[in-house]
Amino acid sequence: MLDVIIAGGGIAGLSAALILGRCRRQVILCDTGRPRNMASQALHGFLSRDGIPPLELRQIAYEQLKNYPSVTCRMTEVVDAEEAADGYEVRLEDGDTLQARYLLLATGIVDALPPVPGIENFYGRSVFHCPYCDGWENSDKALAVYGGGSAGCDFALELLGWSSDVVLCSDGEASLDRNQQEKLQRNGVKVVNGKIARLAGTDGRLERIEFHDGTAIPRQALFFSPDQGQASPLAEKLGCSIAGGVVKTAKFQQVHSRLFVAGDAARSVQLAIVAAAEGAEAAFAINTALLKEGLL
Ligand SMILES: Cc1cc2nc3c(=O)[nH]c(=O)nc-3n(C[C@H](O)[C@H](O)[C@H](O)COP(=O)(O)OP(=O)(O)OC[C@H]3O[C@@H](n4cnc5c(N)ncnc54)[C@H](O)[C@@H]3O)c2cc1C
Repeated sequence: MLDVIIAGGGIAGLSAALILGRCRRQVILCDTGRPRNMASQALHGFLSRDGIPPLELRQIAYEQLKNYPSVTCRMTEVVDAEEAADGYEVRLEDGDTLQARYLLLATGIVDALPPVPGIENFYGRSVFHCPYCDGWENSDKALAVYGGGSAGCDFALELLGWSSDVVLCSDGEASLDRNQQEKLQRNGVKVVNGKIARLAGTDGRLERIEFHDGTAIPRQALFFSPDQGQASPLAEKLGCSIAGGVVKTAKFQQVHSRLFVAGDAARSVQLAIVAAAEGAEAAFAINTALLKEGLL
């Protein structure tokens, strides 16, 4: 029986595997190679790795895990998991079944892009969801926020921290009350409620937003707040409580006594360095529990 199975080899899972490997735990990490930030060109705000291509960071992490012989990485999906005596049993896409005393889900989340034709061609280059990740590179540029209602209003006001030129594009009815309209106006945010026809630009670089009424506004970047869901059905299948797309966890990312969830799958502060920290926290807690279980 393994000590730990880690489902998901993104930053959270890799970080957990590193700590557990250093604790000489028998670990299998399974990954399907589809991290959430696949569309991104550069990972920002990760201490000592600011601006690194995300795939390069992953490659370094996988390479360094080779120093720890008790950790095995497999490119396969965990397709099912269930509680078993003293642990979990998981079924892999490649047909194998594994048992471990602890299961760590680090399977990440998926973001829904707004229904704007062609937006995927710009995502990660000039269309972003997170100003903490990509705001600095767009400082003082002509920015747009996609959205309406209080969420759109708040996001547009938040972006003023990076540029004073922010337009809120509601893509239809803006659903703003008088207070919100006045606050946006006071702070210099214009609201455009025309239906968006398409984003125009070259090589993923946004140049303007075109509307169905034939008008267009020049913009260099667009930010949106995505609806999110779990990338894998495993958490739901295992009875985790999910709110706003993410799993609710207790201290050290614990969900049940032998089940942990770390990284974006369990967090609303969805930064890579936070995912890494959560993976390490879960690993710390799992190793502590294993140590106690091993004592006579
Ligand atoms: C476009 C974009 C840009 C971003 N830029 C930044 C940035 O600049 N700075 C920053 O700090 N953060 C950034 N982020 C956020 C960052 O990507 C996440 O915080 C981070 O990837 C979370 O790591 P994770 O390990 O939780 O999930 P992920 O990185 O998504 O990894 C989850 C892994 O689990 C695998 N998986 C899923 N289900 C299964 C299964 N059933 N079995 C096996 N494997 C499975 C997936 O293939 C994936 O490899 C960005 C996100 C996006 C979308």
